[in-house]
Amino acid sequence: MSTLEKSRYLATAIPGPRSAALIDRKGAAVARGIGNTMPVYAARAAGGIVEDVDGNRFIDLGSGIAVTTIGNASPRVVAAVSAQAAEFTHTCFMVTPYEQYVAVCEHLNRLTPVEGEKRSALFNSGSEAVENAVKIARAYTRKQAVVSFDHAYHGRTNLTMALTAKSMPYKHGFGPFASEIYRAPMSYPFRDAEFGKELATDGELAARRALSIIDKQVGADNLAAVIIEPIQGEGGFIVPAEGFLPTLLQWCRANGVVFIADEVQTGFARTGAMFACEHEGIDPDLIVTAKGIAGGLPLSAVTGRAEIMDSPHVGGLGGTYGGNPLACAAALATIDTIESDGLVARAREIETLMKDRLGRLQADDDRIGDVRGRGAMIAVELVKSGTIEPDADLTKALLAGAHAAGVIVLSCGTYGNVLRFLPPLAISDELLNEGLDVLASVLADLR
Ligand SMILES: *Cc1c(COP(=O)(O)O)cnc(C)c1O
Repeated sequence: MSTLEKSRYLATAIPGPRSAALIDRKGAAVARGIGNTMPVYAARAAGGIVEDVDGNRFIDLGSGIAVTTIGNASPRVVAAVSAQAAEFTHTCFMVTPYEQYVAVCEHLNRLTPVEGEKRSALFNSGSEAVENAVKIARAYTRKQAVVSFDHAYHGRTNLTMALTAKSMPYKHGFGPFASEIYRAPMSYPFRDAEFGKELATDGELAARRALSIIDKQVGADNLAAVIIEPIQGEGGFIVPAEGFLPTLLQWCRANGVVFIADEVQTGFARTGAMFACEHEGIDPDLIVTAKGIAGGLPLSAVTGRAEIMDSPHVGGLGGTYGGNPLACAAALATIDTIESDGLVARAREIETLMKDRLGRLQADDDRIGDVRGRGAMIAVELVKSGTIEPDADLTKALLAGAHAAGVIVLSCGTYGNVLRFLPPLAISDELLNEGLDVLASVLADLR
């Protein structure tokens, strides 16, 4: 097989004939509930390029939703997984344990911004890890209630659907949901500005608004945990006002409530720090990780203070595949790649490049309400010209135009009006700039 050419290239109209045939087969074989962003089928991917089955090459600004942060088919991951597959593919860590699992936990304990002695446990998906963080917090506190926030996304299993805010498409028709879940208002600076400049810029004030509701509607004596994404992902790449997270954490510490940071999307160098909590100077009790942890293999983790992590009884945590040896080998190679290739710094470079480009675009286009995010997790919130009214139609049209022109880009946001960029850190400046050029020209054509 020849090496994948690192350039955008359209061999056919999108979708090409082979993708079109697969789309038909999918319709007849795959449940309708599984949607697709792109109308093309992947053949191979690397270095910020995804090639489809018709030979079209797309610039990848999505990383499979923040998963292939170090790049797709990253060489160290490929080598580590191949070598591990030849040794053994599964024994079940709960039956015959293996070193790779322990080594991943040691790295997580070393890297996460949790204070003191730590422990980790491995699972398969982000949702499964979130569920386990809640189990651990309940076992530790012997309390039941859990608070999550407006615009939150924590997964699609029953408990995590309850924690997730948005009904359509994640929860619609799938109730009843897990009980003892309560919701508090988030700090959303762009939209809080409507209620006064102070609320938009003073995170402590926004936290006091949330805490007053938590205190009155739930009560610390009933509350096991507060769970929050330090930068919200699906909800719209919402960066809370400075002071919001530290104020929540302080209140949790003072009230015997476990503070869980859901870093499933923000972790592993994505935001220009190994973990997004570092930007806020906070040390959560538990951190949930997944997505970027293993270069595309399914792995997730809960890491936290030893006294909390060790509170469930022996046998109370686990799962058949959790910490599968192939996924652990991939995670070890991923962590090595992030550290030896300086990818945290690369994420910051990407932030500078993107915010500069997008900021200039915003200056000339009043449909761009906000440009925000950190590192290689950057968003543009689209609005009706000169207002803050969300423009989901424009967002859809922009996505469709970009996809047809050979750029993979995703949307998000409670109002469906946020364009989100999650490029792999292995992408070149040249490809990144070209991807942004395409977007700018599609946006200009939609005037
Ligand atoms: C994706 C995501 C999850 C769910 O992870 P899955 O692996 O899809 O179950 C949970 N929390 C956040 C913040 C996420 O972005």
